[in-house]
Formats: sequence, C-alpha cells, structure tokens
Amino acid sequence: MPGFELFGDLERKEVNDVLDNGVLMRYGFDGMRNGHWKAKELESELSKAFGVNHVQLVSSGTAAVSVALASAGVGAGDEVIMPTFTFVASFEAILMLGATPVLVDIDDTLTLDPKAVEAAITPKTKAVMVVQMCGSMGDLNALSAICKKHNLIFVEDACQAIGGTYDGKPLGSIADLGCFSFDFVKTITCGEGGAVITNNKDYYLNADHYSDHGHDHVGNDRGAETHPFLGYNFRISELNAAVGLAQVRRLSEFIALQKKNYTILRDAIARIPGVTFRRVPKGGEESYAFLNFFLPDLIDTRKVSEAFKANGVDTCFHYFDNNWHYVRKWEHLKEAKSLYPLSSEIQEALSVLQKKKFEQSDHYIGRNISCLIKLSWTEEEVHERAAKMVKCIKDALNS
Ligand SMILES: *Cc1c(COP(=O)(O)O)cnc(C)c1O
Repeated sequence: MPGFELFGDLERKEVNDVLDNGVLMRYGFDGMRNGHWKAKELESELSKAFGVNHVQLVSSGTAAVSVALASAGVGAGDEVIMPTFTFVASFEAILMLGATPVLVDIDDTLTLDPKAVEAAITPKTKAVMVVQMCGSMGDLNALSAICKKHNLIFVEDACQAIGGTYDGKPLGSIADLGCFSFDFVKTITCGEGGAVITNNKDYYLNADHYSDHGHDHVGNDRGAETHPFLGYNFRISELNAAVGLAQVRRLSEFIALQKKNYTILRDAIARIPGVTFRRVPKGGEESYAFLNFFLPDLIDTRKVSEAFKANGVDTCFHYFDNNWHYVRKWEHLKEAKSLYPLSSEIQEALSVLQKKKFEQSDHYIGRNISCLIKLSWTEEEVHERAAKMVKCIKDALNS
C-alpha cells in the first residue's frame, strides 16, 4: 500500500517546482508563483480520477472526516453512527465537532452491518459513516437506502480503499461526501494530507471556507475577504500537494501492483481448509491494499499471527489484539480521557461503551488477519512470502 515505496523523480520534480519560487502556501501570492498551483492541480486530478464535481484538499485524513461532517452541518448534540472496527481518526473527527460517536457492529465485509446501523438510529442521529477498511467496502446500496429512508447524511471514509470500486464507481464517490487520507503510509501519499470529495456544491463551498478560517475566497485580496462563518485551518501546503500530484498520476500503476501481489498470496492460501475471505459486496472490486482472511476461531488466529511474527511474515495484523483499530482496546475512548471537558452527552455515550459487548464484531475481528500488500516486493519475494504463509497457517491449524 504505501506510495512512499515508489517515491522518485516524478515526485522530486513537482516538489522542485514549488521550491524554485518558494510559494509554499496554496492560496494567494499569484505574482510570485510562476504559474505553479500544486494544490489546485491535485484537486482537479482527483476530481477527474473520482468522477466528482468537487474536491477540497485538507491537511490530513482526520481533518477530511471532520471537515466533511462540519460541511454537512454535523455538530453538538448530533449522533454519528460509525463502525467498531476503524482507525481512531473516526471518533476523533466526530468528537472534535462536539458530536457523539455511536459505535455499531460490523459484519463479514469488515465494516458497518446495515442491520446494526438501522437498530442504532435515534431521533438524534444525523449521519452514518461507513469506513471502507483494508481495501474493501461495506454493503453500500443497503447503507445508502437506510440513509435515504431516515434522511441521514451518508459519509464514506475511503482512506484505506483508494482505487477500489462499487458498481463501477470509485469508492469515496458513492456517499454524499467521501474522505481520503494521503498520510505517509497510504496508497497515495503527500507526506501528510487528505481530501473531501462531493457532488454537492453547498457542502463543497462549506468545506472550502471552513478549512481556511472561513475565508470566502472571493477576489484576490486575501485581507479583504469576508468570513460568512467560523472556520479553522486545515490547509494543505504546496509542498505536500506537489508530492501527491506526482503520486495520484501513478494510482492505476499502484493498484495494478497491489492486485498482482495480492492475487499471488490469495491463491496460495485459498486452498488451505479452514481459510475463508472477507466478503466483498456484489458489484464491488477491492483496491487490493490488504489481503483479509478468516481462520476458524480466535485461538487459531492468535497461533497464526504468532507464527507469522516468528517466521518473518511482517505487515500482517490481528486487529483483535491491536490498540489502534478495534474498540476492544480503545480504553482512552471508553474512559473519556480528554484534556478538556467533554459535554455530558458525549461522556454518557462513552461510558456506555465500557460495558457494551460487540459479540458480532468480536466474531469477525477475532478471526481476521489483515496483510498489507506492498508495492515494492519483487515477484520472487511475494512467492517466498506466500510459501511461508501457507506453512505457518497449516502448521498452526494442525497443531
Ligand atoms: C489513515 C486513516 C485516517 C486518517 O488519516 P490521517 O491522514 O492519518 O489523519 C482515517 N481513517 C482511516 C480509515 C485511515 O486509515
């Protein structure tokens, strides 16, 4: 997955364009910039790549999620439904707006179970956020129908699934708003960066203003611009955007490499009795950023995970035992350990998590191993890795 593995001359050239004139900021300084507008160019490349009308670059994927929700008016008192399996950024972005994260079970797609979503809807629910984890997606038609029926904003966090598709449409472009991260370990990297994509012009204008202190971006005298509403600074710099510009032009090359490496590993382990794979909804195609498989039970999965570690099969994760991606170990969230006071509504919602059981999520995450697919592996390395994985899994399941 990490685009940094293939950092090279193309990225260097774009960065040098920026260094040549020294305009590191994405707005203003028109006379000095020698025609270089890296952030604007990257927005237009992304809008082409994802077939959407509007793209707003921001400083990170976490910022993208917050800006997307803020643009659609989500804030204090609103509940946002999110999955139990995701990166910590999901609840961070919701909490930052004073809104309340409501965690619900995942299914064998490794993201939101539509039935669990429907059961969690209350009069306070304002948005549903599907997180397209580990290169694939949720049941987007079912989730979208639930959002329509209940008049909820539908947000897609596609940070880990850039390049995947559903019914022929790029992931990120299907819900009302889509979010990407271009942090250092994502398929396309800017070093740090993110994007909000949407076909809704109002959401886009809100995102554009909100991510730059509420500036209306009318005219070319920044000091004279008005501020229709409050904002923050979630701007990306020209240097970061320059790297992303070179990288996004390589997206199809990166996805093809991921697919090739993924397929070798998958074909090798598919023949082992007891190994099954995460469900990809009908009409969906993964980004191949990760290979996700299930083992018969938690004990087997721990054994395989240990065997992988002992035998040098790196970049594979058993998220059940990991601190970053699964509710089980999010003690700081459950105990509401905030530097500053949180609203009583949020505190109450978080305290519920201390006792709440997510048995269905445990059932899937407990048995799941997720292997990151690298771009820089040679074919020989992938075959060696496949053979090691097969041996580790067979030995563990037979012991
Ligand atoms: C990486 C990631 C984010 C956050 O992106 P940053 O750019 O690191 O802030 C959000 N959601 C998911 C699913 C991610 O994988």
